[in-house]
Amino acid sequence: MVPEAVLLQTMAEPRVRVETPLPPMLGKETSCLRRISPPGMPFFPCHIGNRFRGMERLTDKFGRPITDLRIAITDRCNYKCVYCRTGNDGAQYADLPIADYLRIARVFAGLGIEKVRITGGEPLLRKGVVGFVEELAALRTLDGRPLDLAITTNGHLLAELAQPLKDAGLRRVTVSMDAVEPERFARITRVSDGFEAVLTGIRYARKIGLDPVKVNCVLLRGFNDDQIIEFGKFARDEDVVVRFIEFMPLEEDRVWSPEIVVTLAEVVERMRAFRPLVEIPHTHSETARRYTFDDGVGEIGIIAPVSQPFCGHCSRVRVTSDGKIRTCLFSLFDHDLHAVMRRGGSDEDMADYIHSVVEQKEARHHIGEAGFEKPSRSMVHIGG
Ligand code: SAM
Repeated sequence: MVPEAVLLQTMAEPRVRVETPLPPMLGKETSCLRRISPPGMPFFPCHIGNRFRGMERLTDKFGRPITDLRIAITDRCNYKCVYCRTGNDGAQYADLPIADYLRIARVFAGLGIEKVRITGGEPLLRKGVVGFVEELAALRTLDGRPLDLAITTNGHLLAELAQPLKDAGLRRVTVSMDAVEPERFARITRVSDGFEAVLTGIRYARKIGLDPVKVNCVLLRGFNDDQIIEFGKFARDEDVVVRFIEFMPLEEDRVWSPEIVVTLAEVVERMRAFRPLVEIPHTHSETARRYTFDDGVGEIGIIAPVSQPFCGHCSRVRVTSDGKIRTCLFSLFDHDLHAVMRRGGSDEDMADYIHSVVEQKEARHHIGEAGFEKPSRSMVHIGG
C-alpha cells in the first residue's frame, strides 16, 4: 500500500538532466535543393547525395516500421496529478510556433507516418490547437489517405472545444481520468472543480459523435485501485472505452515502485467481482489488450507496458513541445530536430536527420531491471 502522504511528498532530490546531444552537422553530403511542398501535401523529397534517405519509409534498425507520431504542442498543464507532477514545478520547456509543429508533422507524413496524436502538457491549453487540427486534417499519408488524428487531453476544456475540434477534422479523443468519484478525482489532480468539467466534456464529445471516446486511467495501488469496478460500470453506462494503464517510472517525483503497479492480470481478476471480462482478439501492433464483458456490453482496454511490454511492436516516435525527438518514453537523450530548423535546414535536411535518429531507436525499455536509468524527461514533459 502506498499512503497518500508518500505520493504527495515533494522529493528534495534534484531532477537528473541529460544534455541533449547536438545533431550531426548538416554538411554538403546531406544538403538538398530546398523545396516547399504545396499546402496540404506531404513532403516528397528528392535524392541528392549518398546519405539522403529521401522517400524511404521510417524503419528502425530492428525492422520496426515507424508509423505513429505523437506531438506535444505545449509543456504547460492545468492539472498537477500527484503521480505525474511534483505540484511545485510548472512548464520546463519552450513551446514552438504552431507552424513549426505543422512543418514537423508534414515532413513525418512524407516518411510514412499514418497516425498523429496531439498531446502535451495539456494540448487544449494551446492557442491555435483547432487550426492545427484543421491543417493536419488536410495532410495525406504516402498512400494518399487522411492521417489518423487523435488528441489526448485531461478533458477540462473539452466541452467548449470538442465541437470546433470535430469541425476541424478530429475524429476521436482520449481523455485522462483517474477516478470516477469527484472527491478522489480532486485529490489526484489537485484541482477542486475538475470532475464535473471533465465528465461534461466526455459526455459532450460522445454526443457530438467523436468516436470512440477513450478514457485512460492510471491505477496506483492503495490510491485509486478501488475504482476498477466503478470504471467498469462507467464504461458501460457512458458508452466509452475505458483503458487502464500500468503506472510507469516517468513521474517528476520518485514515487514509482513495482508494488504500486496494478497489473493487467490483477485488473482482469478484480473485475470478475463485477462481471467477467472476455478478451477481444487483437493484432500484435495494438498496445492495448481489449476486453468486453461476458454479456458483450462495454469495452475495457488494458495497456501493460510493465507486466507485458510491447516494445517489439513499437511503432512510435515522439516530438516534445520544444521540438526534440524521443525514440522511446525511456530514452536517456533527446534529439534536437528543432535545431535543424533553426539553422535553416530544408525539409530534406529534417527528413535525413529524422532517419538518422529513428535508426537509434532503443530495442526496449528496462523498467524493473537492475540498473534501470530514469529517463531524461518525465511523462508530462514528453507527451503521452
Ligand atoms: N494532459 C494530457 C492528458 O492528461 O492526457 C496529455 C499529457 S498526460 C502526461 C498523458 C497521459 O500520461 C495521461 O493519461 C497520464 O495519466 C499519463 N501518465 C502520466 N504519468 C504517467 C506514468 N508515470 N505512467 C503511466 N502513465 C502516465
